[in-house]
Amino acid sequence: MATNIPLTGNFRVTCEYKRKGSWACGWHTGIDLVGDSDTIYGTCDGTVTKIGWDNSYGNYITVKAPDGKYHWFCHLSKVTCSEGDKISRTTKIGVMGSTGNSTGKHLHFEIRNSSNKYADNSDPAAYMGIPNKVGSYNTSNYQIGNTTTSSNSSYAGELKTLNHNTNLRKGPSTDDDIIALYIPGTTLYVLQAGVEKANGYTWDKVRIRVTGDEGYMINQNYK
Ligand SMILES: [Zn+2]
Repeated sequence: MATNIPLTGNFRVTCEYKRKGSWACGWHTGIDLVGDSDTIYGTCDGTVTKIGWDNSYGNYITVKAPDGKYHWFCHLSKVTCSEGDKISRTTKIGVMGSTGNSTGKHLHFEIRNSSNKYADNSDPAAYMGIPNKVGSYNTSNYQIGNTTTSSNSSYAGELKTLNHNTNLRKGPSTDDDIIALYIPGTTLYVLQAGVEKANGYTWDKVRIRVTGDEGYMINQNYK
C-alpha cells in the first residue's frame, strides 16, 4: 500500500492550490504541506528529471510521472536522489526545508502539465486524493490499493480480458514505444479509462494482471 502524498503520517495543508495571492502568476501554483516527519517520498513511479536551485523554489526536484506530468518538490533542505533515478511512491527523495522564497519549513508540491511550464498546472490535491483545503490530515486515510496506481485514488481498476492481439505502449498513442505484445485471453486492469484520444482511438491506462506491466492500450481491444 502506498499513497500519492509525498509525506507519511500526520500532515497539514497550510496553503491551498490556486489560492489568490501575490505570486508571479497571481495564484498559488502548488499546495503547501507540513508534515510531522520531514522525509519526502516520491508520489509516482517516475524518473527524476532535474535537481536544481531557484530563488523562489529553493532546492527542488522534478520527477516525470507516467502520465507525462511533472511533479515538483520545492524548498527542500536536502536532496537524497539523483537525476535519472527511477523512483516509486516509497522512495525517499529528499528532506523538507525552507530554502528559497519561504517563510517557514514546508513542502511546496506542484504538478505541472506536460509543457512543464510555470502556471500550466494540475490540481495536486486531486492527485493526492485529499481536500484542497487548509487543515490536518493523516496519510493512512488516503491509501491506494495494490491493484491500481491510478492517479485517482477512488478508482478501483476494472478487470478486462483482451480479445485481440494488442500492443501495450509506453504512452497513449501508436507513435509511442511498444512495451510488449499481448494475446487474446490476457487479463488486465483498466487503471484510468479514456486518458487520451490519439491516432483515431481512445486510450486507457492499464496494468497487465500477471506481469504487472503498466502502459497504454486502445480501449476497443478488450471486453
Ligand atoms: Zn507553495
